[in-house]
Amino acid sequence: MTLEALVLDNGKRRKAIVSEGTGDTYEEMEYVNLKSYTKMSRAVHKELMEKHHSNLTEILKNSNASLLRCRAGNAYICSYCPAKYPDAADLKAHTLQEHDGEYHLGVAQRKGIAEYLAKLDITDLCCKLCNSNVETLECFKEHLSDVHGLHIFTDINNHILPFKFHGEELKCCICSAVFDKFKILLEHMHSHYRNYVCNFCGAGFVNRSGLFRHSSTHEKDDD
Ligand SMILES: [Zn+2]
Ligand SMILES: [Zn+2]
Ligand SMILES: [Zn+2]
Ligand SMILES: [Zn+2]
Repeated sequence: MTLEALVLDNGKRRKAIVSEGTGDTYEEMEYVNLKSYTKMSRAVHKELMEKHHSNLTEILKNSNASLLRCRAGNAYICSYCPAKYPDAADLKAHTLQEHDGEYHLGVAQRKGIAEYLAKLDITDLCCKLCNSNVETLECFKEHLSDVHGLHIFTDINNHILPFKFHGEELKCCICSAVFDKFKILLEHMHSHYRNYVCNFCGAGFVNRSGLFRHSSTHEKDDD
């Protein structure tokens, strides 16, 4: 039995046929560029999402990192309940206290890979298992597998955006660029995780829906 994967190749759509049951479906998907397929079998998608959820669970379970849903109006919204706080530190305190043991963003967990995106507050990131401070999410993932022998999947793209909040200033925790609004910082974060790339201007995006939203702005430009 074969299944079809529609892939975007230099802006043109072409079909890639991958075999199921040969045990190398996933590799085949990687080969046609996991970053750009638009359709995959349910089984492959399930396996992929399980890997994403597993990594996120290990990070949340073993650190003081906390999810945030979004910023709306002048407040950050909790991932698990309607609570909102103008200060990200208050949301983090709320999340760690009230939702200890809840390791998934309810809404994001039900999303498919095209929309999947987790926003993670890694301010003062610390490993719960050994109390070490860790600077970045990448280092923490390595730390969990190298020091504590936990299984972190490395054959998937990163769909987790890290944020650090210190006082009033909104700073990218990867390149230190400063922003006025969380929304603009969020857009900027995509540029650090180029899982999907715009064929027109080279802009990178964490997930496919980000690229699609962006692509529509080029269509407007053409008019
Ligand atoms: Zn809450
Ligand atoms: Zn540790
Ligand atoms: Zn940056
Ligand atoms: Zn573009």
